[in-house]
Amino acid sequence: MDSTPKSLDQELKEALSENERLRKSLDECVAARMRAEQAARSASEELQQFAYAAGHDLKQPLRSISLYAELLRRECGDNQQSAEFTSFLLEGVAQMQNLIEALLSYSQTGPPARRTAISLTSVLQWGLLNVERLVRESGAQVTHGDLPVIAVDETQMVRVFQNLITNAVQYRGSEAPKIDVRAAEEDDNYVISVRDNGIGIEPKYHQQIFAPFKRLHGREVAGTGLGLALCRKIIEGHGGRIWVESDGENGSVFKFTLPM
Ligand code: ADP
Repeated sequence: MDSTPKSLDQELKEALSENERLRKSLDECVAARMRAEQAARSASEELQQFAYAAGHDLKQPLRSISLYAELLRRECGDNQQSAEFTSFLLEGVAQMQNLIEALLSYSQTGPPARRTAISLTSVLQWGLLNVERLVRESGAQVTHGDLPVIAVDETQMVRVFQNLITNAVQYRGSEAPKIDVRAAEEDDNYVISVRDNGIGIEPKYHQQIFAPFKRLHGREVAGTGLGLALCRKIIEGHGGRIWVESDGENGSVFKFTLPM
């Protein structure tokens, strides 16, 4: 082994060349990551365009089916069975139309377009106004604590409250729905919670329900399975996260964070 001490000059040269080697490999890593991100962005944009085009193109034939089913129903006159069949047909069409609308809305929702500092109390009230009939007919009682003023995409955040409140009403238990919205501060985030006294959600489903089209209910409860997926998309677009807490028996608490 060479025991001759290296000159300072020699050590400096070696350090510089090591530095150069590390810089190159870092550059390669950054380039690879940028390529991967670009590929993911293109794939996601392509998927969104596809969902939009498919949804859009499906609307027209559905309108025709709906129109002719309606005409058929009028033609049926007293024929009970035919009237019943066309009703099923129209029900199916309506369901499909809801699904397409939800799919279009989901695929068109991107990162928040513009953020305005607004009181979440107003956002909540706007959301409640959009589902006023559902809330009124269910006899739901909605309360809230002090909610912060925060820079959000107003339209998107209205959707979040609207969807969470609709769910709290749709998945109610035997008692009239009670919904309470609160805000807390945690580190650099606001944590907003929407608590209900509904049927609850078993812990094994807590992750899955945020995936598109994942429903725990059949046709007995109207829905598209896109409500919570859309909430997640919006909250994550705002730099937050969303989750649910429930023991599956005593209601659910949906929570999401928004950076201060
Ligand atoms: P949808 O309500 O259209 O089925 P969502 O994405 O909004 O779709 O919800 C997914 C599933 O999560 C629902 O089908 C329901 O089973 C469950 N869920 C959502 N919100 C609640 C709630 N507040 N209480 C109980 N179950 C809920």
